Amino acid sequence: MIKLEHIKKQFGELEVLKDVNLNVEKGTVTAIIGPSGSGKTTFLRCMNVLEQPTSGKITIEGQTVDFSKPVPKKDIINLRSKTGMVFQQHHLFPHFTAVENVMEGLITVKRMDKKQAKDKALGLLKKVGLSDKADLYPFQLSGGQQQRVGIARALAMEPSVILFDEPTSALDPELVQEVLKVMKELADEGMTMIVVTHEMKFARDIANEVIFMDGGYIVEQGSPEQVLVHPKEERTKQFLQLIQ
Ligand code: ADP
Repeated sequence: MIKLEHIKKQFGELEVLKDVNLNVEKGTVTAIIGPSGSGKTTFLRCMNVLEQPTSGKITIEGQTVDFSKPVPKKDIINLRSKTGMVFQQHHLFPHFTAVENVMEGLITVKRMDKKQAKDKALGLLKKVGLSDKADLYPFQLSGGQQQRVGIARALAMEPSVILFDEPTSALDPELVQEVLKVMKELADEGMTMIVVTHEMKFARDIANEVIFMDGGYIVEQGSPEQVLVHPKEERTKQFLQLIQ
């Protein structure tokens, strides 16, 4: 369903992604792990076209964009609409309540009327366990609750895939599980997800595929068992030793 071919990304002289290739099947969870600075976030941002790859092709559900050529803006907008993104920090609008945050994209992008958007947004807040928090503002919510609003907001756009960039790394330890629980439920429902994470237990238990990145390359990939328990590459072994 998702295919990334020969993705390269340079920031000036710095080559951050050197030649990254990845296939993701519909309904699977892919965990991306690796040391800080290895290009994980940049890779995710390229998939969402928040960063435009310097070259390479991205295909999502039948639409292919070749970044070696000038890309029409409408192709970027179309490709981006197939992906939802959940960031490390929630990026909610501070002056909107939880339900208004989820409604925003439904009204401005999906052109729903207010009543319809509110019904849908309330349904999504219920799904992430926040029915009783709909009318609170972000500052009145815990970090974990804010992240769950962020997930509901991403779901509202009905993307083909949700990209998570270290969704729990800015949270206090006691709030991590409530976010991972919602992510597990989404995975169980067959949502296609790509997750940059330091949560090795989550990667081991939930992911279908684990990718280890280092130095702008995918160094190793396979099942959680293959990559996390029986890594073949020296760099993967060293990384896993460091974090355990
Ligand atoms: P990771 O997510 O694995 O920690 P990143 O993708 O965030 O890695 O960063 C990889 C490298 O790219 C780092 O050296 C970082 O400084 C650099 N980088 C990321 N974004 C930019 C940017 N917008 N401009 C310049 N350099 C960047």
